[in-house]
Amino acid sequence: MNDEDRVKDIKGPGIQPRHRPITCQSSDGVLSHHPNLIPRPSSLAPRPSVRVVSLASGSSGNALLIDAGETRLLVDAGISARRIEHGLARLGVRAATLDGILVTHEHIDHVSGLPVLARRHGLTVHLTPGTARALGGLGGLSHRLVGRGTTFDVGGATVTALPVRHDGADPVGFIVEIGATTVVVFTDLGCPEPHLREPLRRADLIILEANHDLDRLWNGHYPWRLKQRVASPTGHLCNDDCGALLAEAVEDERARTVWLAHLSQENNEPAIAHTTVAAHVTGRHLDLHVLPRHDPGPIWSHQG
Ligand SMILES: [Zn+2]
Ligand SMILES: [Zn+2]
Repeated sequence: MNDEDRVKDIKGPGIQPRHRPITCQSSDGVLSHHPNLIPRPSSLAPRPSVRVVSLASGSSGNALLIDAGETRLLVDAGISARRIEHGLARLGVRAATLDGILVTHEHIDHVSGLPVLARRHGLTVHLTPGTARALGGLGGLSHRLVGRGTTFDVGGATVTALPVRHDGADPVGFIVEIGATTVVVFTDLGCPEPHLREPLRRADLIILEANHDLDRLWNGHYPWRLKQRVASPTGHLCNDDCGALLAEAVEDERARTVWLAHLSQENNEPAIAHTTVAAHVTGRHLDLHVLPRHDPGPIWSHQG
């Protein structure tokens, strides 16, 4: 049962915990992303080091840690609470120290571990009103409703919930700014809309959906209606649309890391996603990686 099957039951079956070692594909403590010839006073203050780790990505479950030490956020909790706790523990993070959980939308691959994790550790859930309604109530969980397009603070982070087109009730992507570091998380979107370009341009780390290869989708085994749903403007972003959106958004010389996320198991392969997207952004200074579906990693770190 997963997002691509349109399952929205928060009480769906949990995902069995897996215990794999964390793999670290990259760690770039880049100090020169923002060359200021004359430092402003604010730039003289210590800036937090930010690390970002994917615990899982795809229709089987999504969870992402953004950790700046004093501020720690989880984006989505779509694997079991136990798996999230174990994944965090391997990174030296106790779940109780999270400042909150940001929820993109109500599909099961983004919320399956949410009630248990939030309740067990007293965490506040940040979500749109439509997502909260679609979840059928939050059962007394601490939560904060955030409107689409609004900006709010969680711990020391400034977060913007940006509307995306997807067949959730009220789906958003997130722009997370901590110090001088900007991370964008845009998964589960059917349409590479122009308003996504500006945050992509600003980002140091881009986490963007590359869900499927269109030929694989149309020639694959999915039922016709499901193929139509995945390929629709409220479905999922294909590799080519992901690459084209990146190419439109990122035109300068600044180095950025891009994680290709939420790959379909049936209709994509990591190598196909990487090759297809890379062909769109030839000459850009983008460090492209494909997120593993089930395993933690890679780890990205950045000194703002
Ligand atoms: Zn999803
Ligand atoms: Zn979804």
